[in-house]
Amino acid sequence: MKTDLFEGVDYYQLDDLFSEEHLLVRDAARSWVKRDVSPIINDYAQRAEFPSQLLNGLAEIGAFGPYIPEAYGGAGLDHISYGLIMQEIERGDSGVRSTASVQSSLVMFPIHAYGSEEQKQKFLPKLATGELMGCFGLTEPNHGSNPSGMESKFVDKGDHVELSGAKLWISNAPFADIAVVWAKNEEGRIYGLIVERGMEGFTTPETHNKWSLRASSTGELIFDKVKVPKANILPGRTGLGAPLSCLDSARYGIAWGTIGAAMDCYETALRYAKEREQFGRPIAGFQLQQKKLAEMVTEITKAQLLAFRLGQLKNEGKASSAQISMAKRNNVEMALNIARNSRQILGGMGITGDYSIMRHMMNLESVVTYEGTHDIHLLITGLDITGLNAFK
Ligand SMILES: Cc1cc2nc3c(=O)[nH]c(=O)nc-3n(C[C@H](O)[C@H](O)[C@H](O)COP(=O)(O)OP(=O)(O)OC[C@H]3O[C@@H](n4cnc5c(N)ncnc54)[C@H](O)[C@@H]3O)c2cc1C
Repeated sequence: MKTDLFEGVDYYQLDDLFSEEHLLVRDAARSWVKRDVSPIINDYAQRAEFPSQLLNGLAEIGAFGPYIPEAYGGAGLDHISYGLIMQEIERGDSGVRSTASVQSSLVMFPIHAYGSEEQKQKFLPKLATGELMGCFGLTEPNHGSNPSGMESKFVDKGDHVELSGAKLWISNAPFADIAVVWAKNEEGRIYGLIVERGMEGFTTPETHNKWSLRASSTGELIFDKVKVPKANILPGRTGLGAPLSCLDSARYGIAWGTIGAAMDCYETALRYAKEREQFGRPIAGFQLQQKKLAEMVTEITKAQLLAFRLGQLKNEGKASSAQISMAKRNNVEMALNIARNSRQILGGMGITGDYSIMRHMMNLESVVTYEGTHDIHLLITGLDITGLNAFK
């Protein structure tokens, strides 16, 4: 078993800008990843199995609802702390970060923002401890980038509604206790519904055969005339803006999380390049390898500054969806490029599970697609700066 030597990358002394609380939160997450994630994650990814024993630890480091108020069981932290937690978890594995992102931003966030007081009291404290796990159902077999076309629908049956439809590519679905599901009513208006495991007609088959996010559990949500009590409908907001606001929160976490994956790849490649000798000297001494490494640390630093400023805007309630899109898109691409270049620096060793790089690279192929694809985020920026919609 290799020792986890991760130290973190801070070329522009960003630590000086973080508060004491930010650093405490980050260091707690970092230690937990070193102790509980790094030693086991390669085996779980190779076996394509979700390491469910990590759920307690995720709850303990505040990864479930970091910014949800303490009154509802959350950690009551600011958005920069939330970002730093995501960074450290994704440094370990994007799949583990996905589990935390979904629980926080896609399940706890909508219940907190749009749920009734009763729903908040019932679900949030248990979601914060991991006693209940959730998933988020927006994507459908025929509607990915264009969720407004969704076909899942519910009809009014008096004291309950009857939900029919299917969702695809749902993180955490196979083990989730509840699902926040987006579906249309008879008038075509989108609502969020909390569907609970055990409701008749609700099943969550697992999706197999993935080359990416192998340590994350992905599945479908099938609704065969599921009776959902009206008390489980989120009353606070309807329309596509409701699920999109959840995505904003998750995309923000990804903008930070991918910095973690990139730092891990860069550090691994730098260490390897200084130790590995060819032609009688360390490969780190060759200009071609220095170009790769120097560009990596430059890109990581730019991504860190982008995420930090976005965190400040988010704390002030001023971060726009378009600003979040830009950071998600830029930082995922940055991490993917760094993973690809780091892998090359390790030569043949780079393809093995002895190093984290290839796992990060494969994971990031999902991250560049989910929560809005690379193309879609570009179009969001395009729309924002020109006022012209190139989507359709
Ligand atoms: C591992 C994993 C986990 C996921 N977890 C969740 C989850 O928990 N909950 C959830 O709801 N969803 C989840 N998703 C789904 C994810 O959000 C979708 O895959 C994503 O939104 C893209 O949808 P799609 O796969 O249907 O691709 P499509 O929308 O079919 O896109 C295919 C290609 O067409 C491009 N394209 C589409 N429209 C346009 C356009 N107007 N202009 C130019 N190009 C366009 C896209 O950029 C893409 O390259 C997950 C996906 C993966 C892979």
